[in-house]
Amino acid sequence: MIKIEHLSKSFGNLEVLKEVSVDIKAGEVISIIGPSGTGKSTFLRCINLLDRPTGGSIRIDGVDILDPKADVPKIRQKMNMVFQSFNLFSHLSVMDNLTLGPIKLLEKSKQDAEHRAMELLKLVGLAEKAGSYPDELSGGQKQRVAIARCMAMEPKIILVDEPTSALDPTMVSEVLSVIRRLAKEGMTLLIVTHEMDFARDVSNRVLYMDEGVIYEEGTPAQIFDNPQKEKTRTFINRIRSFTYHIASPDYDLYALNAEIETFCEKQILPVKTRQNLISLVQVMLQLFNPILSTVLLDINLAYSEKKESLEVVFESTGEPKNMLDSNLLPDGLKLSIIQNVTQSIDYQRLNNKNRLTLILKQE
Ligand code: ADP
Ligand code: MG
Repeated sequence: MIKIEHLSKSFGNLEVLKEVSVDIKAGEVISIIGPSGTGKSTFLRCINLLDRPTGGSIRIDGVDILDPKADVPKIRQKMNMVFQSFNLFSHLSVMDNLTLGPIKLLEKSKQDAEHRAMELLKLVGLAEKAGSYPDELSGGQKQRVAIARCMAMEPKIILVDEPTSALDPTMVSEVLSVIRRLAKEGMTLLIVTHEMDFARDVSNRVLYMDEGVIYEEGTPAQIFDNPQKEKTRTFINRIRSFTYHIASPDYDLYALNAEIETFCEKQILPVKTRQNLISLVQVMLQLFNPILSTVLLDINLAYSEKKESLEVVFESTGEPKNMLDSNLLPDGLKLSIIQNVTQSIDYQRLNNKNRLTLILKQE
């Protein structure tokens, strides 16, 4: 239904969209996720012709909307947009907000337009507010009116830009429910959102955008459970990490501990987790100490916000050997200290290195 090819947009020297291509089929619900400032809003605004693309093409049912002769108001009606900030006409009642466009642009009679407006207000749960003015409504109600107003234009697709980001947390779910309902009724939707659970359950397809390109796309399960590319993984898991390299037995223990402390502070880890982490690293270093003159050791700490777990990876060069193999470990006490503070221990031989992955227990 909509074919976007090599869409580019620059503001002066700033290249915001870099040859973005997407096909959208009727009835599809697509979520766009990604860090801020990567061009998600610009992408929607270009499709809606609020921003003029600098290159590429957009076709809707085969018609090139970037053709200078294209009828812009008609295109906006077909690809209608819901904004972060609602953009209702504050001097018009809810009913008039919904009927203005259909009367002017769709040439509907007032009666038909009002009849349809009432149906849509019922759909979004606001029939009793038909006579109210936007200022008399809560943020969540305003956004629902904005969605109904969008529907009143009988669009082929609705572009939704972070519909809940200007709302009080208590009003997020009423707006998301309305969008879910539209999705269920078969409306084609392109939604920029930072509500990951919503994106996961409402959409057929998820686009992860980063620095002006669609960096990875897939089904919600692919993107959220098994992202293939580095940046997507980092974004999805909000993993923050640091690595400490140890190249000799004379490494700087104070510096290492200070880095661990700083990391824990940044992640706002509970005191107990911090203590466990430090004693885990200490015991592990005691185990590694005899071989530190012959191997290189990397200690990597990564915290996943989503899984709320802290992962510590010890990666060492040298012969294949699992330092925590109980058959090789004469000191049962060290192993029991480690087992006490971890929920899992995994050994792998990878790229000629010994990799021990320990996940800390949650306190
Ligand atoms: P997102 O929605 O992903 O947060 P935006 O599309 O809003 O990102 O912005 C992408 C980049 O384009 C940002 O660096 C922003 O500053 C820039 N930008 C957006 N609109 C304009 C504009 N009208 N003029 C200049 N720069 C803009
Ligand atoms: Mg934006």
